[in-house]
Amino acid sequence: MTVRVPEELAFLLPPRDRPARARRLRADPDATLGHLVRAAGVPPTEVGGLRLDGRPAGRSARAAPGGVVDVLAVARPEPAAPGGFLLDVGLGALARRLRLLGLDAAWSNDAGDAELAARARDEQRTLLTQDRGLLMRRGVRGALVRGARPDDQLADVLDRFAPALAPLTRCTACGAHLTPVAKAEVADRLPAGTRRTYDDFSRCTACGRVYWRGAHAARIDRLVRRARRPDR
Ligand SMILES: [Zn+2]
Repeated sequence: MTVRVPEELAFLLPPRDRPARARRLRADPDATLGHLVRAAGVPPTEVGGLRLDGRPAGRSARAAPGGVVDVLAVARPEPAAPGGFLLDVGLGALARRLRLLGLDAAWSNDAGDAELAARARDEQRTLLTQDRGLLMRRGVRGALVRGARPDDQLADVLDRFAPALAPLTRCTACGAHLTPVAKAEVADRLPAGTRRTYDDFSRCTACGRVYWRGAHAARIDRLVRRARRPDR
């Protein structure tokens, strides 16, 4: 049997199979298309549809010996899960960027795989990871994040889910909501230059961190501009 993938998913195949974008697998009459696609190295979260010998087919279909399974990539943008995002341990920098843009991005630096998968299910979050094994777990809704640098990862997530952005409404440190606060209340915690220059402040409702637009405006503008430019 052969599993074929589109160009954008070729990186999931072993290097020798990438040029042809096809992986041959030993025939197994019991294997569903879902099993075959996993065996080829493609997590279910990256599958937008399947074809068996040229016809649309479901994940539970079975291929006859010599069958050809075509994997279709997920159409972008796709809706994110209603509970927000949950990021894998290694994606802390991406979590801060998502929060800066106002997105619900849960992250902790010590969550194990089983814990992440369970939390994503329980809280109906989209699990963002670069660990394919995590996405192979049953029932996980998520995405394999492309890109080595956090800015590229952010661009990938914004391109894939096209979420509505609300910059400077969440704490980048803990992810909780910010609420406006009077300058007088936070003046003693501000650097002198900031105290002189800015008048609008907000404070994290959970950890108390203070934010002002000036400190982040340029960075936010740059992130959004870069993320939305298709050729970046
Ligand atoms: Zn906070």
